Amino acid sequence: MPELPEVETIKEDLRGLVVGSKIERAEVLHGSLVEHPTEEGFVRRISGAEISGARRRAKHLIVELSTGDSLVLQLKIGGQLLLVPPVEEPTSSLMLVLHLEGGRRLFLRDQTEFTRARLLDAGELEERLSSLGPEPFGEDFSAEYLRRALSGRRAQIKPLLLDQKVVSGIGNIYVDEILYDAWLHPRRKANTLSGREWEALYEAILKNLVAGVEHRGTTVRLYRDVLDRPGEHQNYLRVFEKHGEPCPGCGGIIVREKVGGRPTHFCPACQPEDGFGGERQLESLW
Ligand SMILES: [Zn+2]
Repeated sequence: MPELPEVETIKEDLRGLVVGSKIERAEVLHGSLVEHPTEEGFVRRISGAEISGARRRAKHLIVELSTGDSLVLQLKIGGQLLLVPPVEEPTSSLMLVLHLEGGRRLFLRDQTEFTRARLLDAGELEERLSSLGPEPFGEDFSAEYLRRALSGRRAQIKPLLLDQKVVSGIGNIYVDEILYDAWLHPRRKANTLSGREWEALYEAILKNLVAGVEHRGTTVRLYRDVLDRPGEHQNYLRVFEKHGEPCPGCGGIIVREKVGGRPTHFCPACQPEDGFGGERQLESLW
């Protein structure tokens, strides 16, 4: 599902392409799309409003309206927001069409049908976002924050990084790449990480998410930007879905195992479970 870099790319596209446009009519095409308010209220409050802004919080895409309401979208695995008509796909995957002034249309398509939408006023939006952890690019996120938040936890590091209350925006693709860069086994217990390892983890989070944004997201299967173009960061992945292929660092074989219920890709040599890989590598660099 779209993670921070993909939602960030869509948000920037919306800022350039549709902010300032009036929504003449909203058309809901899938009964399970609207979680709040009622479908009737959703359509009525969106129709006639102007799109006044677009922003991202964690993996939420927030379309701000001139009425003070915000359209909050959680794009799931197949979720796409497209300004070009999706001609090649069955129309049944369309969940929402926003008819904009001037004859343009914004299509929300999701062949998995898991994408959900809410229309929230300012108070409801604040409440909805209040439990999310810091943004990786925000001032309140640092190696020290990670160490303080997690060094007392005995849980495995990978599920902790996927917990949106700990840090916002990281999902199953970027987390594997992050742990690879930080030389950390995905099953390492958080309370065993050293100070240098927290630093390495923080640097790896920033490095991977910045690169993902620069490459306009990762298209493993279904992700597209607003103009239906794939991202490019899939060309830079080292471990995600590379199981059976050689590790670019050591030449060993990348493996795939379930960690915290999620398919997980890592190099057992560069990311040993006993935790000495990172220390050894850092020492060899010095
Ligand atoms: Zn390796």
